[in-house]
Amino acid sequence: MTTVEAAPDLETFRTEVRAWLEANARRRRHDSSEFKRRMAVSSQSREDERAHVDTCKTWQRKLYDAGFAGIAVPTEYGGRGGTTAQQRVFQQEVARYEIDTGVFSVGLGMVVPTLLAHGTEAQKERFLPPLLSGDEVWCQLFSEPGSGSDLASIQTRAVRDGDEWVVNGQKVWNSFAHVAEWGILLARTNWDVPKHRGITYFLVEMSTPGIEVRPLRQITGVSHFNETFLSEIRIPHSNVVGEVDGGWGVTQTTLMAERALIGGGMGLGFRDYLELARHYDRTNDPEIRQRLAAAYTRFELLRFLGERARAAARAGNPLGPESSVAKLAISQSVAENGNLALAIEGAAGMLYGTDAFEDGFWQQSFLGQWGIRIGGGTEQVQRNILGERVLGLPPEPRPDKTEPFRDVPKNA
Ligand SMILES: Cc1cc2nc3c(=O)[nH]c(=O)nc-3n(C[C@H](O)[C@H](O)[C@H](O)COP(=O)(O)OP(=O)(O)OC[C@H]3O[C@@H](n4cnc5c(N)ncnc54)[C@H](O)[C@@H]3O)c2cc1C
Repeated sequence: MTTVEAAPDLETFRTEVRAWLEANARRRRHDSSEFKRRMAVSSQSREDERAHVDTCKTWQRKLYDAGFAGIAVPTEYGGRGGTTAQQRVFQQEVARYEIDTGVFSVGLGMVVPTLLAHGTEAQKERFLPPLLSGDEVWCQLFSEPGSGSDLASIQTRAVRDGDEWVVNGQKVWNSFAHVAEWGILLARTNWDVPKHRGITYFLVEMSTPGIEVRPLRQITGVSHFNETFLSEIRIPHSNVVGEVDGGWGVTQTTLMAERALIGGGMGLGFRDYLELARHYDRTNDPEIRQRLAAAYTRFELLRFLGERARAAARAGNPLGPESSVAKLAISQSVAENGNLALAIEGAAGMLYGTDAFEDGFWQQSFLGQWGIRIGGGTEQVQRNILGERVLGLPPEPRPDKTEPFRDVPKNA
């Protein structure tokens, strides 16, 4: 009954979204689109990067002014006060246009759901509106040189000093940290309890004295992530999210949202590969035809996995291990798709940058696969989660789960 009533509303919303997009944005084309030019970049100056941040901020502001930022976020925090179903409709529609809000992926995809679930009223009022309006970019300061897959083993230390916390440590692989105004940060606040129970979740202003951000160059040639050094930085106690020492529960919300975000893949569809095969006149090659058919099957499977997650969300069931299934399926798909693109190009696949077809877009999408496969949890880690939580296989031996963290052997 409710679904029958809800359907026309969603269609009205879709019509409104389409009309706005048609009037304000350019449709993504499958030939030489802005999206491909952006992906094809294999080196980027600081000026190029600044221009990209400005473009993202301008788009985010436009979406905000039109009522399309934070569609499912309550109006008192700057959102539209709509539904997650409307949010999905918007995402489906916007994907067909050349709108870039990439630098807000951590903020919109992870910080918003985390603050909505765990933030204080004051935190939601302070941080959500400027995030949604495109004024403040966020980054994620979680991983450390010795703690990625095993994130709960972090050693960045926070010590309370009156109304402030003093933090020392090093983070790594922090996307957008060099352009972000704010960061979500995990630090250890209690060394006398098992590792998951002594972590606190902070919000940190990136201009805080003592934060040094050093860009790292990726396999694709660009530097979108960084290592971040924290030396005696001070964070007000009011920027703790959730309970002191209770940050691991808050972190789960962020990580689940991150997996779902990465589940969105590289923004390519089956048609992109078909067009590539047509360009190289390979659609009659029996092996390429087989591989294209397999690619079509993969894209359909991902679509159904997405439907399943949406159905669970509509029914009010929080995402559980489904996000690991989706992350694993996406990882396998981007690996196969990267190989397929270069197989279609054949010997021309060895070219790079502007020498290659579409300025090296396909080489970059091949190289970009590892970012997607590792970021947000590797394939092996997703398999562990599925083995233990879905298949009920015996868990890995983890003596460090019960011992005080102080006594656990650590990476240097
Ligand atoms: C593009 C990109 C963007 C990122 N952005 C951010 C960011 O913004 N903020 C942030 O904090 N982090 C970020 N990361 C870091 C990311 O979360 C970590 O790289 C990831 O969790 C893996 O950790 P690691 O690199 O330390 O690898 P490790 O944990 O050292 O893993 C090394 C290898 O060992 C395997 N392995 C580890 N443990 C197990 C196990 N128990 N069982 C089986 N195999 C295992 C892994 O699968 C992997 O193959 C980003 C990473 C990438 C690639």
